[in-house]
Amino acid sequence: MQTDRTLILGLIETCREVIAAHADHLCELDRAIGDGDHGTNMRRGCDAVYVDRDRLSGMPLAQALEKIGLTLVMNIGGASGPLYGTLLIEMGRKLGSNAHKTNFAAIVGEAIDAVARRGRSQEGDKTLLDVLYPVHTEMVRQSALVRIADTAKESAQLTAGMRAMRGRASFLGDRSIGHVDPGASSCALLATAICHYLKEYRPA
Ligand code: ADP
Ligand code: MG
Repeated sequence: MQTDRTLILGLIETCREVIAAHADHLCELDRAIGDGDHGTNMRRGCDAVYVDRDRLSGMPLAQALEKIGLTLVMNIGGASGPLYGTLLIEMGRKLGSNAHKTNFAAIVGEAIDAVARRGRSQEGDKTLLDVLYPVHTEMVRQSALVRIADTAKESAQLTAGMRAMRGRASFLGDRSIGHVDPGASSCALLATAICHYLKEYRPA
């Protein structure tokens, strides 16, 4: 339980920090192919989780993930809130009901599929899924954390070559090509920060 507390607290702080540091950039990306609020939305969500960090870090990891997901749904808003929320809520639920045989990569995979169903989107649509799926592939391969982080960054950059098929950016059609997707970018920032944190993390 103490291990969960340190881990949850560390991850909450890490995620909040990286989003705060890049919020302006995420808004800039969203101004190009959306409505310019993605950084503000993500910051609001991460701040709400941070405010609640003492309570959240007192919970077992599965329960904390679910609660964090709910907080993200309620506070990020926009299209991305329910999607990030679904990811964490599903991870928490699956982890809670499979605590005895934890295959974390499989749990993450099922949670990503739930995000895809929620957004009626798939890989290649120029969304955060274009980072989540490649990251998941590396997890299944049991790649090193630095490799997973590199994949996240590269995958976000690759969205620049895609035509948006979902969300506001899809209204632009071909004019969405040439711009990195803001949701893919926030996802890569979070994945990278989490990988770096976990690389240094030593359970008590
Ligand atoms: P909004 O578009 O409502 O302003 P945000 O700006 O916070 O919401 O988030 C935009 C991001 O959400 C996009 O860059 C994309 O990655 C993601 N997104 C939007 N719609 C979908 C969808 N249907 N499926 C998956 N991801 C989506
Ligand atoms: Mg937006």
